[in-house]
Order: sequence, then C-alpha cells, then structure tokens
Amino acid sequence: MNALVSRLRRSIAPAGKTLLFRSGGCRALRTLAPSRNVAILRYHAVCGPEGYAYADPGICVSPEAFDAHIAYLSSQYAVLPLPEAVARLTSRQPLPPNAVAITFDDGYADNLGAARTLHKYGVVGTFYLTADCLADGQPFWPTEIKTLVEALRGPAVTITVPRAQTLPLATATDRYRAIKTLTKLCKGHPIPVRDALRAELRQLAGVPAAPTPTMLTWDQVREMVSLGMDMGGHTLTHTNLPSAGPEDAWREIDGCRRVLRERLGVEVTQFSYPNGGAERYHTPELHDMARRAGFTGAATSSNGFTTPDSDPFAMERVEI
Ligand SMILES: [Zn+2]
Repeated sequence: MNALVSRLRRSIAPAGKTLLFRSGGCRALRTLAPSRNVAILRYHAVCGPEGYAYADPGICVSPEAFDAHIAYLSSQYAVLPLPEAVARLTSRQPLPPNAVAITFDDGYADNLGAARTLHKYGVVGTFYLTADCLADGQPFWPTEIKTLVEALRGPAVTITVPRAQTLPLATATDRYRAIKTLTKLCKGHPIPVRDALRAELRQLAGVPAAPTPTMLTWDQVREMVSLGMDMGGHTLTHTNLPSAGPEDAWREIDGCRRVLRERLGVEVTQFSYPNGGAERYHTPELHDMARRAGFTGAATSSNGFTTPDSDPFAMERVEI
C-alpha cells in the first residue's frame, strides 16, 4: 500500500502516469486491493500542458493517458459508480473483487472529454463540482490566483490583506512561490478575508472579477449527466471549510447540494472536502454537516483504500 502510494505520488507528469500503467502500477493496485475494499481514484484535470495555466501540473493527466487508464481499468477491474460502492460499503454488502470508483475534483471544462471517455468504456465517474464557480459563475479562486499573479507587473507586489507583506515576482520561481503563498493565505482565512485578498490582487493587477472560462458550463454538465455521469458537491466556492467557521461551512456544504439538484434535476449524494494537503481541511463537525445536508458519502484526499470500516464521511482515495 505504502509502496503504491509513493509510486503514485512520484508520477507527477502525465508521461509518468502513462509509464505507471505500462510498468505495472495497476497490477500492484489490483494485488493490494482485496474484495472488501474499494480504490476510489482521485483525478482533477484531464489536459496536456495547455492546462498548466489553470491547474497545477501535478493534478493534470493527459487525455491519452486517461484513455489508457480507463481502457485498462474497465478490462481488469470492477469499476463501480461511487454512490453504489458507498451504498454497498455502508450496508455491509459484498463488493466485487478489484472494486474501483473514479472521481474528479473541482469541475474543469476538460472533464467533459473525460466523461466521454468513461462513457466510451461503459463506466461511470463521479464529478465533484464547485457549484458557484462554473464557467458563468464566480471566479474559481485557485485558478484566479494563478491568472492574477501572471497579470501583475514589476519585480514585486505588496499586499495589505490579511497583513502587509511584499512578494517578489522577478523570476518564474518567485512567481511560483507567490502563487503558493497566496493560495495558503486563501486556505487559511475565513471567506471574507480570502475574498478581500483577491479583490486587492485584482486591483493591483488591473483585472476585473470575471468567471473562469476553464471551468465547465452548466450545458456541459448536463451533457455529462446525459452520458450517465454522477455529479457530486465540492462546496460553492472551493472554501477551506475549517477556516470558514461553522455558519459559512454549512452554507457551502448544504448550498452546493441544493444548487446542483435544482439546476440539474438529479440526485446528488456524494461530497468531497476541498483543499486537501498541508492544511486542515476536514473535521468530525464537517463530516456531520455533510451527513445532515443529505449526502450519503464524503471523500477526503487522504491516500488509501476505503473499507467497510472507513467512515463514509471521511473516505480515503488514491491520488492519481
Ligand atoms: Zn478541489
């Protein structure tokens, strides 16, 4: 298990991911996943280098590699729709051997192509959407931060929110570090502070608030639904929930399910907590909120297989 996870983590570039599958990484997955477990795979963007402008290269898989993954998985594994896998786990019904579920975080426009690929191979994926930040909504802040840093001129920028500090911008490394620093600030503060910081950056860059065109449109999401794909919630605005406080956290969790059900007319049962990584991004109180909002399962970004003993509101996933 640990060997598999470290191997997956090492395979950052899309080429590396193709290599992983060719070199037998999936055989390791199969050997290590007994039938009472399910490997919930966690994808983000499915794109080539053109996607690095909106998504970190570490969360991009090329369309060709993705097609190869699904061709392999659909022929060698039992790929289950996630809601079905969760229902079986929570009711202690047996899972088929080598059970796998496929999930995507965020709602990038390139996920439409991924949905078409899944449909081609006759399997269902769960797409966790940031409901208020689709292509006609609010800016999707993780992408917006990258765009704003790109738009800032000069060797450095001084921000005053949440406190005065100067970030160097002279080199590509400086700009990469600035994106990391600003992202951490957005994750570590309540929504009003996060949004004030973004407003300040927009003013400094001379860029108006605008929707993020690299996110899915509602029409694209409807097409994915018509292909049989499952839509899940990933909050309204990609908020780091523990930083938001209970009131805003509830609004983001309950609100995203409401928006998705109203706009799509489908049942929405699955949730994933945004901003996994170094920050604290889920807590027992948040698990309870997801349950109360009507979700039947919620996934984290912790690497591992989900078992009948896993908390269905803190399900482990395998990062791809
Ligand atoms: Zn996310």
